[in-house]
Amino acid sequence: MYHELLFDATFWAFLLGIDQELAEAARAEKCPSCGCHLHHANYPRKPRGPRNLPEEYRYRLSFCCAGDGCRKRVTPPSVRFLGRKVYLGAVVILVSAMRQGPTPRRVRELTELFGADRRTIYRWRDFWNEHFPKTTFWKVARARLVPVFEIVEFPRSLLEVFVRAGNDRDGWKKLLCFLSPITTTKGLEIKVSDDRGQPAEDAPRRF
Ligand SMILES: [Zn+2]
Repeated sequence: MYHELLFDATFWAFLLGIDQELAEAARAEKCPSCGCHLHHANYPRKPRGPRNLPEEYRYRLSFCCAGDGCRKRVTPPSVRFLGRKVYLGAVVILVSAMRQGPTPRRVRELTELFGADRRTIYRWRDFWNEHFPKTTFWKVARARLVPVFEIVEFPRSLLEVFVRAGNDRDGWKKLLCFLSPITTTKGLEIKVSDDRGQPAEDAPRRF
């Protein structure tokens, strides 16, 4: 089962290592506005979900420009935190996916497994159904996936595309890296019109 991995402390340490690499890459790029060095300015976080998380899960890696008069905030993409959601990205994906498919798991069962309450789980469903397909990120990314894979529903189809059953860390890494642009505020933006200039609401809904 997919979810056993989420109770494995070494999996969370593995994702932390990827986030540290993403952060180093962002820091090496320096400030996108003025080219100055970036200083650490991490955001405190209190993630919910698995127990025994590494200490470093108490903050999201982020930077602040050192330049006087700029001080721009630079937050690299993350494979751990999904925007401002208090649950970790992998938990949000997995719990949402387990509600889908031919044999959906009951909300009560998922609440017992992961501690997310009913309202939270429904909010995630709305995020994947209503928000995610309209993001600028997906409108670009779908060009890479849709010709090759059939996307039936989010996020289950994405999980199936990237993660082979069982202890597939590499698959999770690919999936979370693929989705990492939506972990920044800009990545979750919604385009007001589609490519033909039509309002997004009129776009074909295959989700
Ligand atoms: Zn700057």
